[in-house]
Amino acid sequence: MEFKDFSLAFSQTKVGRFAKDLAEGRIMMTVCRGCGKKYYPPRADCSHCMGSEMEWKPIKGEGSLVTFTKIYVPPEHFALRQPLMPFSTVQFEPCPIGILEVEEGLRIMGWMPKMEIQKIRVGMKLKASPQILPDGKVTIVLEAM
Ligand SMILES: [Zn+2]
Repeated sequence: MEFKDFSLAFSQTKVGRFAKDLAEGRIMMTVCRGCGKKYYPPRADCSHCMGSEMEWKPIKGEGSLVTFTKIYVPPEHFALRQPLMPFSTVQFEPCPIGILEVEEGLRIMGWMPKMEIQKIRVGMKLKASPQILPDGKVTIVLEAM
């Protein structure tokens, strides 16, 4: 699995193992060996101390919801085939998407396909997990624990 398989495609990256780890069920962060700053999504270089010695560590993924919205217009690759939305069988049915703050202090964005929008509340406890879509790409889903 290559980085281009993570939802949106990038042709070059120094953090290519990110998508491979997701496909194997792990959400990873990088931690700077120089100053200890943590990064999600993983970065190869530290913007705090300019170091490039990074350690890869898994994120547990449990945290509280910071914010959420509904996606009405899907990313381009989701529109290549039916269903147009990755977690909906109905064309243009919106899917909730949110940002979770996990215990490492990092924020993870993910789809919330199994949650009714009326029941989603800021601050609710959720867990972020990798998921492989029908087209083979990997993404992240937020679910109740
Ligand atoms: Zn650093």
